[in-house]
Amino acid sequence: MRYSTFGKSDFQVSSLGFGAMNLPGVAFEQAREALHYALDHGINYIDTAAAYRNSEEIIGAAISHRRKEFFLATKTNKRDYASAKEEINNSLQRMKTDHVDLLQIHYLNYVQEFKQVMGENGAYQAALEAQREGKVRHIGLTGHRPELLARWISKGQFDQVLFHLNLAQPFALQELIPAATEQNMMKVAMKPLSGGFIQPVETAIRYPYSQDVHVIISGMVSVNEVQENIAAMEREVGQGEREELQQLAVELGGHNCRRCNYCSCPIGVTIPDVMISSKIRDKFGLLQKGKDFYHKQKEAILSCADYEPCREKPLCEQKCPYHLPMRQVIQSSAAYLA
Ligand code: SF4
Ligand code: SF4
Repeated sequence: MRYSTFGKSDFQVSSLGFGAMNLPGVAFEQAREALHYALDHGINYIDTAAAYRNSEEIIGAAISHRRKEFFLATKTNKRDYASAKEEINNSLQRMKTDHVDLLQIHYLNYVQEFKQVMGENGAYQAALEAQREGKVRHIGLTGHRPELLARWISKGQFDQVLFHLNLAQPFALQELIPAATEQNMMKVAMKPLSGGFIQPVETAIRYPYSQDVHVIISGMVSVNEVQENIAAMEREVGQGEREELQQLAVELGGHNCRRCNYCSCPIGVTIPDVMISSKIRDKFGLLQKGKDFYHKQKEAILSCADYEPCREKPLCEQKCPYHLPMRQVIQSSAAYLA
């Protein structure tokens, strides 16, 4: 596994970060073992968020006594000063620590929300105040619209940016990563499997590992998963493999869905998951998680073609900032399910 200087910080960060989002779904003892195994085997970046159910409490209970060994990143999705301030303090309490290394403003996808966060009574002021008090070392942001993130980091107000980068979502390469590099920011990629869809797993992890990012956060819930992720980063990616992966990303990312969630479907089709999985599904088939997803979505997907209000002008397509042909992709998925 690679280690690199983390942007403007003096921290030598491991290229694999432990994503703690799904820990609340497993028994505490399993979560504790996975976290300790990760720390014992070179992972020194732990990523969580106030919004991830009791993930922060699990981290506090399992590894707070090893606090000096890892870079701790959490997030707040509050937009105003007072709520963000309260949430930062609660996060510290839950994780049994007096500071986090990184506080990220979570899930910023709309211009209006960004303006609110950066305004006089916005969450950014709470983050700055916590930084002055020593409760927060660095401030970052996360979101699903890479070209907006590239614009929002341009004034140098953030130390870090967290974005999707995987074989089915290579979009951060276009503007965001170069913009972050220019500012010597901490670059963190998330969701190498895009929520459990991309396979083979090793190939999926090696793609972001081949790119210009410091950390790849992978959601892990067991020792086995930690081992599998570490193994995928055991050797560096050579030029030939990098080119192959890049070519594959162009193909699998051809759906162009950023997962911004601007769209919604009245009959319950989870549009971004169908969009993002569509090309992977047709080329490689699905992992169990993907099969379960399609099983659950079958009825909604099959109903799309007959949904009267969308017959002339699909409701979802009217909301997509990238003007994507979602109805057509959903219907080709219906053909796959039939
Ligand atoms: S076109 Fe299909 S997926 Fe889109 S909103 Fe209508 S029913 Fe839902
Ligand atoms: S289909 Fe369009 S609106 Fe929906 S998540 Fe993808 S990019 Fe966003």
